[in-house]
Amino acid sequence: MKILVANLGSTSLKWRLFDFAGDGERLLHKGGFERVSDHSQAIEDCLAQLQQSGHIATAGDLAAVGFKTVLARGVTGCVRLDEPVVQAMEAYNTIAPAHNPPYVKGIRLFARRLPGVPLVGLFETAFYQWLPDAATRYGVPQSWYEAGVRRWGFHGASHKYIAERSAELLGRPDVAARVRHLYLDGGATPVGEPPLRVISCHLGGSSSLTALRNGLAIGNSLGLSPQSGLPHNNRVGDLDAMAVPLVMRTLGLSLDEVEHQLCREAGLKGVSGVSNDLRDILAAAAQGNARARAALDFFVHEIRRWLGAYLVALGGLEALVFTAGIGENRAEIRAAVCAGLEAFGIALDPAQNTATRAQEALISPPDAPVKVLVIPTNEELVVAREVKRFLENSPN
Ligand code: AMP
Repeated sequence: MKILVANLGSTSLKWRLFDFAGDGERLLHKGGFERVSDHSQAIEDCLAQLQQSGHIATAGDLAAVGFKTVLARGVTGCVRLDEPVVQAMEAYNTIAPAHNPPYVKGIRLFARRLPGVPLVGLFETAFYQWLPDAATRYGVPQSWYEAGVRRWGFHGASHKYIAERSAELLGRPDVAARVRHLYLDGGATPVGEPPLRVISCHLGGSSSLTALRNGLAIGNSLGLSPQSGLPHNNRVGDLDAMAVPLVMRTLGLSLDEVEHQLCREAGLKGVSGVSNDLRDILAAAAQGNARARAALDFFVHEIRRWLGAYLVALGGLEALVFTAGIGENRAEIRAAVCAGLEAFGIALDPAQNTATRAQEALISPPDAPVKVLVIPTNEELVVAREVKRFLENSPN
């Protein structure tokens, strides 16, 4: 069964083609285009590459195209992306302006180009369907809550991968099996004792922390929209709601300008004034740029704030995991996050931490109470697996 996973950005198309046979899963092909101005041409070129590579003869060889969809009004889980679901995504274009519009446009183009191939989305919110109610709340009037003003949580595909893979690495196949079957049985797969408590730190262009108890998320630092939680590359992160009327009144900004700045000019880019890429910010800080240093300190401070919250929520910790572009590659950020936490059992092996880049590794001393791990994430694989399960379990 061949499943194409398409990752759509406003000026990019990236893809991975997976093949599932029996229990085996194989990555057949990956590729992508940047600086795309015409997505329908990019889709043609993607299909042409898949044919030239010999992995498909015609588009009909694709069992489905899967998408890591972000957010839709009233829809979550792993679902067929028919027009009502696409419209439900479109309804939230304004709260996910960097994410939803390219997906809405791209999914419609795929639907037109591949009319016989099912298009299936795994929503980034799906992993949080079983959050405790208290972890979904903001202090808003009930009418706002009923209108959808609540914490959803995102990065579900990445944190699900980490939940499963960390359980395997920690010798807990029971927890890994629960995570694997989560969307089929709603977390009903039984797990044994003792509890497995993990905090997953996805630090990249977008960043979030998730607390995992026996593989199930009990919280995610992202809330209503992808602009919440930790500061992101150019998106704001958590902000006191009254900041919006304040800058509208005192700086004379329009609502459109505020939205634009919160979603494109804020986060690490806004604080540093340097770049939305942490590599540039680290380089500037090393040369004495004070705003770059402030952005780094702020980023680490915010990560540790959520880390503290989730340590308490979990009541202890077996493992702390770093993943995504920054988490996998930047030893100095991992060291800053873990500094001075020996009282909580968290310590690094400095040589192991420094040597670890983009590979699975234990970076804490072997006898430390908390295992600190680097695990490269694989969001596309999670999407492909769920799309496969969806196809196997959907009636038609
Ligand atoms: P992601 O969203 O997971 O692709 O992560 C993107 C961010 O991770 C970039 O903004 C970089 O700051 C950082 N990053 C990605 N790759 C590397 C690398 N090889 N070395 C250092 N930082 C990296």
